[in-house]
Amino acid sequence: MTRNSGKPDKVLWSELLPWEFKRRLADCPLVYLPLGICEPHGQIAAFGLDTIKAEWLCENAAREAGGIVAPAMGYHVHESGYHARWLEDTVGECNPHMTGMPPHVFLHFFLYQLRAFANAGFKGIVVVSGHSGGNQFDLRRVAERFSIYASIPVFVASDPELVTGRYEGDHAGKYEISQLLYVRPDLVDFAKSDLHRFADAGGPLAIGDDAHQADPLLGRDIMEACLRKLIQEAESLKGRIGNDAATIPITYEEIEALWQELWQVRQDWITARPRDGQLPVSTRSQWKSYERLEV
Ligand SMILES: [Zn+2]
Repeated sequence: MTRNSGKPDKVLWSELLPWEFKRRLADCPLVYLPLGICEPHGQIAAFGLDTIKAEWLCENAAREAGGIVAPAMGYHVHESGYHARWLEDTVGECNPHMTGMPPHVFLHFFLYQLRAFANAGFKGIVVVSGHSGGNQFDLRRVAERFSIYASIPVFVASDPELVTGRYEGDHAGKYEISQLLYVRPDLVDFAKSDLHRFADAGGPLAIGDDAHQADPLLGRDIMEACLRKLIQEAESLKGRIGNDAATIPITYEEIEALWQELWQVRQDWITARPRDGQLPVSTRSQWKSYERLEV
């Protein structure tokens, strides 16, 4: 059953009974992982925008292409590397009220999430990150290493990557606020725009310049285009599922060995340092200590 034809199928792992899980797994051994974060999207939109759109995409893709949606992850890499100067510019010294994690903690955990999916019986993994801007390259680095080791195809994309060439992603601008207006209009309130003038309210909180042009119909077109591409990728992943996927549980020791390899090249992670040519973070900014990963 699809989202437009009455009661939708249950696709959330957390809601399935064992027999339902086993049946969906046998029908289609794909798992979807929605990734997001709580971070400011101006005074007008909810903190969880990135997580909410990733969940929407994964749930609707699972209904159409089959598979099961893993519990969403609402913590993500933010402060570190190139994010630091961006946060200084867009949030400044206000409290962003966000669920940021350091890259080494997040990526290590991500590797264990992939292990959990393999051990639960999945043969293909789809990861959708609603938080983008570069993090997804580090996720792919981890996913590729795991994929080779476990012989399980893993697809990782941020939502703007699903519609490259058609729409350009942004942060809390016309693109993202339109997405939320379509998926959860109750979580956008333009009447609160004026609050950005008050520092004690948090200031502009990373609002995009063209957020006022957001439109639910544009949001629908963006989200449906993202969904079509995601379904296409899920179908293609199904075609790449082989018989050599690991069938015995992957141990902690095996994951730690993979992690050591990734850890050795941590200075290459995109979230570990500023972008080339990016302005340095001001000495007194709250974001200064996150500019370079020093672990
Ligand atoms: Zn966002």
